[in-house]
Amino acid sequence: MLNNKGRVTRPQESTDDHIETQDSYSGHKGLLMNEPLLFEVGGLDKTGVDLPDCSETENMLGGLERAGEIGLPGLSEPEAVRHYVRLSQQNYAIDSGFYPLGSCTMKHNPRLNEKMARLPGFTDIHPLQPQSSVQGALQLMEQLSHWLLELTGMEAIALSPKAGAHGELCGMMAIKAALEAADSSRNIVLVPESAHGTNPATAAQLGFKVASIPADADGTVRAHAVQTAIEENGAETIAGIMLTNPNTCGLFEREIKAIADAVHEAGGYFYCDGANFNAIMGRVRPGDLGVDAMHFNLHKTFSTPHGGGGPGSGPVVLSQRLSAFAPVPFLQKSDDGLTLIEHEDGDDTEAEPFGRLTAFHGQMGMYVRALSYILSHGLDGLAQASGDAVLNANYVRAKLKHLLNQPFGDQACMHEVLFDESSLAGTGVTTLDIAKRLIDEGFHPMTIYFPLVCKGAMLIEPTESESQASIDLFVETLASLIEEAKAGETEEAFHQAPVHTPRRRLDETAAARKPILRFESSSN
Ligand SMILES: *Cc1c(COP(=O)(O)O)cnc(C)c1O
Repeated sequence: MLNNKGRVTRPQESTDDHIETQDSYSGHKGLLMNEPLLFEVGGLDKTGVDLPDCSETENMLGGLERAGEIGLPGLSEPEAVRHYVRLSQQNYAIDSGFYPLGSCTMKHNPRLNEKMARLPGFTDIHPLQPQSSVQGALQLMEQLSHWLLELTGMEAIALSPKAGAHGELCGMMAIKAALEAADSSRNIVLVPESAHGTNPATAAQLGFKVASIPADADGTVRAHAVQTAIEENGAETIAGIMLTNPNTCGLFEREIKAIADAVHEAGGYFYCDGANFNAIMGRVRPGDLGVDAMHFNLHKTFSTPHGGGGPGSGPVVLSQRLSAFAPVPFLQKSDDGLTLIEHEDGDDTEAEPFGRLTAFHGQMGMYVRALSYILSHGLDGLAQASGDAVLNANYVRAKLKHLLNQPFGDQACMHEVLFDESSLAGTGVTTLDIAKRLIDEGFHPMTIYFPLVCKGAMLIEPTESESQASIDLFVETLASLIEEAKAGETEEAFHQAPVHTPRRRLDETAAARKPILRFESSSN
């Protein structure tokens, strides 16, 4: 039986492949509650507030008033509260369990960071206050800048970008500004095949042409491949390269210095995607490797929270060649204290800012959390964190390599380990099936099908903040699933997973290609 919203109302009943079956009358599973849409719960007859009817007033809308009902669902206060609390309980989080999502660096966000970010001196200020009244906040930004520059060995910093991809845009805009200042028509950006999709997207968005560089059999980019690409395109066309190090296969680009030299020799700039800085912080300085611009993901490396569209922060460090082109606002120090330079002609330096990326100065709360993380670790602690991240990933690798294939051979990895699905050949079980079964086992799956350079990728990043016990449980569970798949006859069980979740397996292609973004009431 279906209710008036078209949902099944009896256990184990389905009229249509696209309507999932239910395991209980209520739709709840134990204390895991089924959560309908607000539009299904609410109605125009309900409200959370009791206000007396308005007395008639003169209509001043000039005929622009709405003709029909507004169509928003009314809810009682408990209904509204329960809806959001239940949704929050269905949200898997780093605070609820192991979250080995490769490339995303889901590390623990120490509560000390939260305590600092909630200090009234940071929460009760406003970007439009006179700068003389927010010197403490500016000092915090200056200290964070100092650390990020020290850790990278770079010259200048733009704090304001609000995500990794936004930082890429910032760095590439600085490169574009530098090229324009030199009247250069260079328009080709080299990007390795294994790059995060945001790299070629950023280059293309700025009007650069993307030329792809193949990786070697060991998964890294070779200087001679870069040299070949430079020669094929003509050195005079090369605007630069966008390279991730460690790369998205979790491997350190060992020829990075030679690659930087080749690009510089050609007259181009070296953008480094620093999203994986987690693996090398405190150990190697990108500035020493010849990098001209690099973003951080404060929300990865420095543990500030992310996910679910939450605030990211992607500061960009720039080499001496690019420092003049950093966007506004930037900090300037004088005897009177710190000034946030807001306008392109607002200072008396050599600066030639390419413009502005954000309203105001960026994500203050993330700056506080990141600096709190940095100061509580110290330089030695940060180096230990990156060391532990690499150790943990190699522990996972060592524990699973007899069961899963490493696409680029049996070599040590950095902070994340990449496997492919070739060992599952013939079992009928795929990477997707393994990921779905992991959900039933209470784990957020690893990153799957990324990077694209190997078939059925499983990219596992435990981070440094996991205990051996929690990694062991994950590894043993994953190993059991793979052994089960290889033993055969369980293909169906894999294809049906997850079975213990509020929602069962979705048609992922339809969800991506034909998303239903608007609720249509069944009475329409
Ligand atoms: C996460 C990530 C990005 C993008 O960062 P966002 O903050 O999600 O925009 C870019 N490159 C790599 C390698 C990443 O892991």
